[in-house]
Formats: sequence, structure tokens, C-alpha cells
Amino acid sequence: MLAYQHAYHAGNFADVHKHLGLRRLIQAMMGKSSAISFVDTHAGRGLYPLAAAETQKLGEYHQGVERLWQRRRGLSADSPIGEWLAALATLQAGAELSRYPGSPWWLGSALRPQDRLTLFELHPAEHRHLVDQAFSAESAVQRRHADGLKGLSKLVPVSTPRLCVLIDPSYERKAEYEEVAETLRQVSRKVRHAVVLVWYPLLPADRHRRMLETLRAAGIPKLWRSELQIREPIADRGMYGSGLLVMNPPWQLDRELDQVFSALAPMLAEGATHRSEWWTGEA
Ligand code: SAM
Repeated sequence: MLAYQHAYHAGNFADVHKHLGLRRLIQAMMGKSSAISFVDTHAGRGLYPLAAAETQKLGEYHQGVERLWQRRRGLSADSPIGEWLAALATLQAGAELSRYPGSPWWLGSALRPQDRLTLFELHPAEHRHLVDQAFSAESAVQRRHADGLKGLSKLVPVSTPRLCVLIDPSYERKAEYEEVAETLRQVSRKVRHAVVLVWYPLLPADRHRRMLETLRAAGIPKLWRSELQIREPIADRGMYGSGLLVMNPPWQLDRELDQVFSALAPMLAEGATHRSEWWTGEA
């Protein structure tokens, strides 16, 4: 059963961590002109009006994107966070922050004529919303109402020289951690140079640790991880942090993201911390 709806969480601290990382990753890859196939295995609905009842119910964006938005005038558009906020501003009707974009927008708005984007979304209503979203590079975008991990496995290898994947499940089922690890293993075998960004939650049960251990045991090289911890883990209090795992990050992106996220953490919450490390090294 698909119960999760991202509208309840849109723009929270984890979205900021993920989408800022995604934007810097896209920009780093676009430093070269060769074509890229982008795949978003769990796309969501694409765009989230912040006034929507679901988003207002938990109001998580107050501790996420809104904190940065309030400081944007003090941030240079040349800085990674300032540049990210400037991109976000292009989507607003006025000076107010009224809409938060999901990963399909961060990917779709960056496409060059040579690139393409495949979006997978399994929830029927979320998929319908996604179909309603227009992209400037419409002919390069495919929306599929299908399982994202299975779809990705069938899609690779791709015909473009490069592949960039976002894997961002809801982890509603415990098995998803293992399914993500298995998919990453398959993709790394079929496309050794594939760049993959996996998001995972830091929850009191710490299930992400087993996924990371499985990936290390599988011998997948060049995995870098970033973890943003917003508060101490407390049983029954839910997500205490956000994790990103990047397979084959472009040259020096690890250093850049470490600096960006270290600056981001205290903007999001007092006492928030960031740490990063190479989880696995060269083959
Ligand atoms: N990537 C989105 C973003 O950053 O804006 C958020 C995605 S949300 C965390 C996860 C989404 O995956 C939900 O919309 C859910 O309906 C969808 N989903 C759940 N299981 C799926 C599956 N097996 N294949 C594709 N999508 C799935």
C-alpha cells in the first residue's frame, strides 16, 4: 500500500539537504557537454504549493526552506546556497515563498537540449499531478507510472554517454533499504561510471546502517556519504537527520558539498551538525 505523500513534508530540512546536493551535482556534471540521461526513481508530484492543507498540517517547511528563504538577502548569489535560493525565487509569483519544487523540477529545469529525463512515480494520484506539470524541455521528459527501482534496472545501460540517477524512496517498507542496495549494485555493474544520488532518513532505528554495510560488502567503489543531523535521536520522535550517498561523485564535489552542508547545518537548527566521509574508495 502506498500511504506516503510528500506534500506533508515538502520543503523540510531533508528536502533542502537533498535538493541542494542534487543541484550542485547536476551543475558539476554539466561542466562537460556530453549528453546525460537523468532518472528520478521516486519523483513525487513535482510541485508543492505551501498553502496546501497537507503541507500546512505539519508545517515542516518552517524548519527547512523557510529558514533559508528568510536569510536570502544576506547570501551572495555566487555562493551555492545563494544560487540555490535564486533558482527557487524564479518559481515564486512574488517576493513570498509560496511554492516548493520537488526533484522533477530541480532536474527538469536544468536540462540542456542533449539531455533527457525519466521520472518514475507509482502512486496513482501523485503520478496524475506529475503529468499535469509542464516542463520547458517537455519532449525530453518521460513520466512513467511504474516501480522506480525495477524501472531503472530495465532502463540501464542507457544510450547517452552519461547517466545520473536520484533514488529517493519513502522507506515505508523496511525492505526498501535492501532493494535500494541491490539496485545500486546492479546499476554499478551495468554502468560503472553511473552517478547515483541516494537519499536516506536518519531514524532512531538506524536501518540505513545496514544498507550502507550491504553496499560496502558488495564491493561497490567510490561511495561518498553526507549526513545532516538536526537533533539527537529520540525514540518515537521520528527523523533526526538526513543522509545522502553519492556513487561516483564528480571531481571535488565531495569537498564542495562538505563545505556547503557544514554552512547549511547551523542555518537550519541550532546545534545541527554535518559530517561526511568516503564510505568506499577506488576499486
Ligand atoms: N523525489 C521527490 C522529491 O525530492 O521531490 C520525493 C519523493 S517521495 C520521498 C517518494 C515518492 O515515491 C512518493 O511520491 C511515493 O508515492 C513514490 N513511490 C513509492 N513507492 C514507489 C515505487 N516503488 N516506485 C516509484 N515511486 C514510488
